[in-house]
Amino acid sequence: SIAQLKKSVAIPVGEVISGKDIKFIKGEIRQINQMKRKISVGSREMDYDYLVVALGNVADFYGIEGVEKHALPLQSLPDALRVRNAVEFAAQRMRMEPNRRFMRVVVAGGGCSSVEMAGELKGFLDEVAWKNGLDRENMEIVLAEAGSNLLAGIGEQAAREAYFRLKQLGIRVELSHRISRVDNNFVEFLGGEKVEYDVLVWAAGAKAFPVPFAHAELKDKKGRLLVNDFLQLEDFPNIFVIGDLSAAAAGKPPFLGGVEQALDQARYLAEALPQLMRNRRPQPFKPASRSWIVNIGGKWAIVKTDRLNFTGIFAYIIGRLVRFRYYRRICGFRRAVKYWLLQQELYGRND
Ligand SMILES: Cc1cc2nc3c(=O)[nH]c(=O)nc-3n(C[C@H](O)[C@H](O)[C@H](O)COP(=O)(O)OP(=O)(O)OC[C@H]3O[C@@H](n4cnc5c(N)ncnc54)[C@H](O)[C@@H]3O)c2cc1C
Repeated sequence: SIAQLKKSVAIPVGEVISGKDIKFIKGEIRQINQMKRKISVGSREMDYDYLVVALGNVADFYGIEGVEKHALPLQSLPDALRVRNAVEFAAQRMRMEPNRRFMRVVVAGGGCSSVEMAGELKGFLDEVAWKNGLDRENMEIVLAEAGSNLLAGIGEQAAREAYFRLKQLGIRVELSHRISRVDNNFVEFLGGEKVEYDVLVWAAGAKAFPVPFAHAELKDKKGRLLVNDFLQLEDFPNIFVIGDLSAAAAGKPPFLGGVEQALDQARYLAEALPQLMRNRRPQPFKPASRSWIVNIGGKWAIVKTDRLNFTGIFAYIIGRLVRFRYYRRICGFRRAVKYWLLQQELYGRND
């Protein structure tokens, strides 16, 4: 059920902070005034001595005409549920309107999220077709990527493996297809080619959340805030930035993003901050090299680390085990077992 699905991917904050001396305030951050050391959350204003900013990413539509209006971004759980609803709606419309003989879901982007999404959609369309008594042959998934490779930045071998896996799943992969315009029914590519769609999923890029600072801060070209060795803003050492919003200063090893790095930074800061408060100099933060596990439909994945690159069911099993580690880091061993088992039950059945 949807409720079970939600439970398996969204851990309530209360479970993460229970038993710890942390006060949770639900609200939107409206302004951070670095000079006055004040933060506005909803209608409240609070003073702070130290501030950790971890506001993550938002979808990047690159200013392409029509994308923000017509495409469904894929950044959060509500976004994912909207995609699910849109696909179900398109299938129901096909069932009710005899003139509609065909439906197409276009996934924009060829990075990890898009490739995983396309793989998941394959299974979901099988199910939706069966439920609605539709011919699955009349449903198509198209993945469109502007570059000449999938999984840019992960490596050529992984890119090839992802390509052949998607093909094997019956997904149409269009490389070197840069979307230049979107309207209600069509995606248009640079060069003029048009593809009709029923659902357009936008997983083609993300940029840093635009933090409402009262005074401008140094950023990289993705809008991420540049931090020093201790994850501090250079001009305001009482403000720390972690997660997708942070970027290493020029000349330093880059931050590659992802959950593990966000958790590493959080752990680092939990140890470094008390030292900084006592005017001691902690060890600098050193980003670990990033590993990738990309699930592409069913019990199949790609594992890519500095030294390893393998695919198939074994990679899928490694992915499930890594997920346990992730839960354990967030909410402790006992709760990790609970969430992991719930996911095993759900995904074991779906995959
Ligand atoms: C579809 C998808 C799949 C992914 N899969 C993987 C994966 O398999 N492995 C991996 O390593 N990484 C994955 N990532 C990336 C991963 O989610 C991020 O790297 C990670 O969540 C970064 O953590 P963060 O704390 O910086 O930001 P987030 O986890 O995005 O947290 C930011 C939080 O800030 C809140 N927020 C935003 N604006 C405000 C505001 N104004 N006021 C108050 N709160 C606000 C948001 O609601 C959110 O809860 C995936 C990302 C996406 C979108």
